[in-house]
Amino acid sequence: MKWALIGASRIASGYVIDAIRAQSGHEIASVLSSDEGRGRDYAETHGIARSSTDLDEILADPEIDAVYISTTNEKHHPQAMAAIDAGKHILCEKPLAMTLSDAVEMVRAAEAKGVVFATNHHLRNAGSHLAIRDLIASGRIGEVLSARVFHAVNLPEHLRGWRINDRAAGGGVIPDITVHDADTVRFHLGEDPVEVVAQSAVSGLGQGVEDSVMSVWKMPSGAMVQTHESFTHPHAGTGIEFHGTKGSIFARDVMTQRPVGGVWLVGPNGRQDVSFDDHNLYVRALGEFAKAVVGNGRPAADGVDGVKSLAVALAVREAADQGRAVRVDYGGI
Ligand code: NDP
Repeated sequence: MKWALIGASRIASGYVIDAIRAQSGHEIASVLSSDEGRGRDYAETHGIARSSTDLDEILADPEIDAVYISTTNEKHHPQAMAAIDAGKHILCEKPLAMTLSDAVEMVRAAEAKGVVFATNHHLRNAGSHLAIRDLIASGRIGEVLSARVFHAVNLPEHLRGWRINDRAAGGGVIPDITVHDADTVRFHLGEDPVEVVAQSAVSGLGQGVEDSVMSVWKMPSGAMVQTHESFTHPHAGTGIEFHGTKGSIFARDVMTQRPVGGVWLVGPNGRQDVSFDDHNLYVRALGEFAKAVVGNGRPAADGVDGVKSLAVALAVREAADQGRAVRVDYGGI
């Protein structure tokens, strides 16, 4: 299976190129960059045969089966629509788009064309999160009453570009991290938030965009969810907790790109450590995508998952901007 990278990005060079190449029979044939020189250097550095500044040229290549879109967020929609039109399978970065209607359009167009469309929500591929979901689904903590997500990190220096100063490119911690937390909570609880309240702030990095946000979500079951995302917390560490009528799950350092961290369960009989697989998150995501392309199952996170995580993030931003509770609009999907 031949891939094209749409975007000469750091996430591709850091994780996804290796994850594609870890799949048997998968190779990367070309990379799109808006800058000819950067594209050429990127292709050379990563052993990719061709680079181009012309999306149509890449999509016209009948040998390309799938594209991985990891440009800045405002480009995902037009590039995905063109790739769908060309009949390519798509793994698209989060957030899928800048608006809900654009994201819904992408997912509906992919369905109509019969191509696989996936969202790169890596966290649900982590061994830690798979173990947590199994504990919740098997009733180990009883009825879930609440969840708390700790996702306040220190944005690395090399990522302090469009994320902190360009709202039009999709900057801000809400499109960057709240989407992941929305997907992760949906993955664990199997339900979609109905209403949110939130406060956002600029706490040292944001220039015209929020760099910190706290929000509380109401779930259909009645469970309450509290989340904290930030770019400005060097020592906070990440984590997630689920508290139920029979027990609580605690996980630390698991809101990350690497297969690290710890999970433990606390119940009437005390504390019990939970073991989990330490496979590479992105390799698993690409593996599920590859299987879906040959008609075997669905991607780890599909297009509908991407629409829903975006819907929650947009509601959080609206709630923070307007200082009122906002019902989450899922765009009819
Ligand atoms: P980058 O800033 O690395 O790349 C985005 C675009 O910026 C690229 O497409 C490229 O444009 C341009 N660019 C890259 N490097 C440079 C450079 N050195 N100088 C000038 N321009 C450059 O973004 P990320 O990789 O951090 O994020 C890309 C997408 O992936 C976003 O949608 C983000 O939300 C998502 N993401 C997802 C993660 C996940 O785990 N699921 C983790 C990190 C990001 P061009 O292609 O035109 O050359």
